[in-house]
Amino acid sequence: MKALQYREIGSRPEVVSIPDPQVGPGQVLLKVTAAGVCHSDEFIMSLPAEAYVYGLPLTLGHEGAGIVEAVGEGVSGVKPGDSVAVYGPWGCGRCHMCAQGKENYCLNAEAEGIRPPGLGAPGSMAEYMIVDNERHLVPLGDLDPVKNVSLTDAGLTPYHAIKTSLPKLGAGTTAVVIGAGGLGHVGIQILRAISGATVVALDVSDEKLDLATQVGAQHTFLSNPDAVGAVRDLTGGRGANAVFDFVGVQPTVELASAMAGTEGDVTIVGIGGGALPVGFGRIAYDVAVRTPYWGSRAELIETFDLARAGSVEVEIETYSLDEAPKAYERLHEGKIRGRAVILP
Ligand code: NAD
Ligand code: ZN
Repeated sequence: MKALQYREIGSRPEVVSIPDPQVGPGQVLLKVTAAGVCHSDEFIMSLPAEAYVYGLPLTLGHEGAGIVEAVGEGVSGVKPGDSVAVYGPWGCGRCHMCAQGKENYCLNAEAEGIRPPGLGAPGSMAEYMIVDNERHLVPLGDLDPVKNVSLTDAGLTPYHAIKTSLPKLGAGTTAVVIGAGGLGHVGIQILRAISGATVVALDVSDEKLDLATQVGAQHTFLSNPDAVGAVRDLTGGRGANAVFDFVGVQPTVELASAMAGTEGDVTIVGIGGGALPVGFGRIAYDVAVRTPYWGSRAELIETFDLARAGSVEVEIETYSLDEAPKAYERLHEGKIRGRAVILP
């Protein structure tokens, strides 16, 4: 089969031919219908050899959807022909976190070498993929896999981040989204759908700010130090009740911290390496700084429910598997509007 692989440190991903995977006991073989392109792929491919832990060659793709092609011995919850999405942050399935469906915070994954598809295990950017356990599958039913595959990360990750802050986001509050890219443009819609907050979006690109407005942001500002005053003005000096940083570089974590008001949340989702000096007097009183990772299985089901209700729609650009390297070039150049989706 054809697959998109990262094969050598520092190289660009390439389309290669590899053997078809065979389904083992307890596993599910999917014929992939859609695979999303995430900035985290770009991040891992930028790592030097000493920091890279995902194995080579790596079949990319941690946002995946497919049709069940075959099931291994003992699988009873799905059958060939079912349309499903893949819950990506695989865990051990036994620990206290996994028991709550929070496999993203599995206590044993690292020690047992369990890695998400596309981030260690072979991913969804291939004609077929193996899913280790049927519990990692969420039925899509009538939802279009191409339009909705990215909800498995670009939807689930902001949903989890926002849901945790909901008690602070009632009517009359203000939430700021930094970075209106793949995650951010879905985050804006989730905030509009499940919170009472007025939504402010920041980005460095006017096109991304247009997208932010299109998907529901009520105010947009260019992402620079002037945005702090703009948010303070909008909130009568109080500052934001929650800031979601979907970039996470040094300038954006500093913006996030400077615009958060008393008792606010600063949630750093982007993995840009920015760091905050948090201490008394350096940030507004009682601000909580959080660094969430992906989300729980229950939250993925809720995210798809939002799509079913028409509250969330991912803006997509589609590419064939042969064109996938081009999608990564456009991501690298910051040109993707919403999310790029590969159709293997
Ligand atoms: P993306 O490339 O689609 O979007 C990034 C957006 O940020 C773009 O619109 C870009 O114009 C904007 N941007 C860049 N620099 C900016 C700045 N200084 N100020 C404001 N906006 C700026 O990326 P994505 O796929 O949405 O991923 C966003 C980040 O989240 C990445 O760092 C990714 O690795 C990370 N991520 C984290 C998790 C998690 O679980 N914590 C999950 C998925 C992705
Ligand atoms: Zn676990």
